[in-house]
Amino acid sequence: MGTQLNKIELIQDYFDELYPEAHCELTYHKDYEFLIAVMFSAQCTDKKVNKVTDVLFSKYKTLNELDLAPIEDIESIIKPLGLYKNKAKNLKGICRGLLENFNGIVPDDKLKLTTLPGVGTKTANVCLIELFKIPAFPVDTHVRRVSNRLGLVSTTDVSKIEIALMKQFPKEKRIKLHHQFIFFGRYYCKALSPNCANCKIRGICKEKCKNL
Ligand code: SF4
Repeated sequence: MGTQLNKIELIQDYFDELYPEAHCELTYHKDYEFLIAVMFSAQCTDKKVNKVTDVLFSKYKTLNELDLAPIEDIESIIKPLGLYKNKAKNLKGICRGLLENFNGIVPDDKLKLTTLPGVGTKTANVCLIELFKIPAFPVDTHVRRVSNRLGLVSTTDVSKIEIALMKQFPKEKRIKLHHQFIFFGRYYCKALSPNCANCKIRGICKEKCKNL
């Protein structure tokens, strides 16, 4: 137990040192824009999403306008994202769902959020922490890889990882830590070429580092 506590503190300290200002990199001005941007980000980079949403939300400035927008036009704007037909369909479903069931307001509730098309647990959790500061721990590809490498979990099951990380990290630190895990995975502990030679928490890492 003592070792585990030290490990948790070590990770928190290092992440604070590397990424004191870690934050969500999706740009948005309204809650529904964020929800749609997160849905768009499936299997796609935040950079690409930001480029596309900049055009889309400038053209269709309200939820009602997006709801009425021709799906063919949405498809042509979001084509660079990949899976664009599905994402356009989900966008229309999200607009309809928000307007019909939630008075056009993004709900601060995981179950309600996941009734919307294309919104799974991860997307719902990302909205909860970003929009409502509710300390969930969404697990994306970076969080999954980093938490396994650091020996915090030993599974690829995202639900199990989420529960394990929620247990191990204090509630008040979870939101920031979530962003720090993503920054660390995205820019430092990358899937194919992690920066192991300079990594200060190498001592607790389970990965057989090949880059030393
Ligand atoms: S030692 Fe390498 S694989 Fe392990 S956490 Fe650090 S960067 Fe990632």
